[in-house]
Amino acid sequence: MRCDVITLFPELFSPFLDVGMVGRAVKAGLLVVNLIWLREFGEGVHRSVDDRPYGGGPGMVMMAPPLMRAIESIEREKRSLLLIMSPAGEIFSQNMASSFLKFDQLVIVCGRYEGIDQRIVELSGAREVSIGDYVLSGGEIPAMVIIDAVTRLLPGVLGDEASSAEESFKEGLLEYPQYTRPRTFMGLGVPEVLLRGNHKEIEEWRRAQALLRTKARRPDLFERLLLTKRDMELMERYSQQGE
Ligand code: SAM
Repeated sequence: MRCDVITLFPELFSPFLDVGMVGRAVKAGLLVVNLIWLREFGEGVHRSVDDRPYGGGPGMVMMAPPLMRAIESIEREKRSLLLIMSPAGEIFSQNMASSFLKFDQLVIVCGRYEGIDQRIVELSGAREVSIGDYVLSGGEIPAMVIIDAVTRLLPGVLGDEASSAEESFKEGLLEYPQYTRPRTFMGLGVPEVLLRGNHKEIEEWRRAQALLRTKARRPDLFERLLLTKRDMELMERYSQQGE
């Protein structure tokens, strides 16, 4: 996967691209991130990239010409997707991250100030994506969120391939609770079922916990689930038993 990121602050990406899972993916050549400094495409001696909004109002708006020059400077792969980070965009999700895997390249535009000139969205055919219902000062963190979520789905990136298969949001469910050593911590133990080594029982307990958690914490996700008879039985059994 290649990601081309248009930003006024490329330096924000340096520890992110160097460490952990993303750092390993970069070192292994599974992820290539190309940072494009928007200032290089700015106007005049000051390389301006923003101006006052037509119609008045607070703040500055990112001008269309520098952005268009930056977008056009990028060599596009055959299967390439252009994304603009915007709080007014479609909400990013695990499903959206998976759907990006069919592309070889993501071109990501990070906004700043009051956002970007709307004509860039219209002319470029970009998809506007939001990472949630709050306003950040720039699109760099949203871009990192998308790159991180997509990278961990790339084949060969996670050591244990199963770990991304069982995670939260797979099938629209939250993940079951996880435990590791020590067996007792500050007086709290680990659910007995996880210590007995009965794989069928463990699988059932995990499924029930995932269902019960989703129901309690995310009724919006729970409503959309297609529950099987076994799911209902497991929920019934474990909601009575507790852990
Ligand atoms: N005036 C804009 C509004 O009310 O929608 C907010 C602009 S925000 C201060 C500056 C930039 O940060 C945006 O252009 C966008 O690129 C990025 N941004 C802020 N919040 C975001 C979010 N929740 N998701 C994606 N991008 C976001």
